[in-house]
Amino acid sequence: MDDVTSFKIDHNKLLRGVYVSRKDPVGSETVTTFDIRMKEPNREPVMDTATMHTLEHLMAVYIRGGSSGWAGRMLYIGPMGCRTGMYLIAKGSLESGDILHMLIECFKYILNFKGPVPYTDLSECGNALDHNLFFAQYESRKFLNEVLLDIRPENLKYPD
Ligand SMILES: [Zn+2]
Repeated sequence: MDDVTSFKIDHNKLLRGVYVSRKDPVGSETVTTFDIRMKEPNREPVMDTATMHTLEHLMAVYIRGGSSGWAGRMLYIGPMGCRTGMYLIAKGSLESGDILHMLIECFKYILNFKGPVPYTDLSECGNALDHNLFFAQYESRKFLNEVLLDIRPENLKYPD
């Protein structure tokens, strides 16, 4: 099996934060995968699927919208299977600091969002009833206040 960088980091040491998970060449370009880690792995409760689903919708709306500045550069936004965070994949060879301001604005947007959750018609979403705006806002507030607004070097670089 190929080495997968994100499985090789020591999850026992991993804190919440904004990490570069990997950089991959695609043709003549590079794409950067970010690990937006909102929960300490195996050391605190994970988010439930409805919370993550709402985060996915609202992050996509904000980041792909005009005001984020990343509309054409963010290729993918989605939940981690372990439910401790989100993956973002962006065009370019980037560092955590490059998306930090955008992420802060994104979580503020979610925090202040007045429902209903966008794109939750049955024609638009694969599990339209499985959303939880209340807890998506709870988790956004917690991540903002406890991590993003007081970010430290250890929240921006994977542990050695
Ligand atoms: Zn959906």
